[in-house]
Amino acid sequence: MSSHDAPSPPPITYTARPALGALHLTCDRCQRVYAYPADGGPAIRCECGWRYENRSGVITEEFAPRLGV
Ligand SMILES: [Zn+2]
Repeated sequence: MSSHDAPSPPPITYTARPALGALHLTCDRCQRVYAYPADGGPAIRCECGWRYENRSGVITEEFAPRLGV
């Protein structure tokens, strides 16, 4: 028996990137959670008045309160 000479199995690398569709965006102001906006897609309008838009992979924030509020 010489199994102690067997090489170690190769390491398993797990990616830290979540699967597509599992991404979400949390509003920093009210902690509401929304689906992550797509690049170039429609902006998310949070109930608290902030907008979140994905522009070339960068989330831009803008305060856009609704009229009459
Ligand atoms: Zn919010």
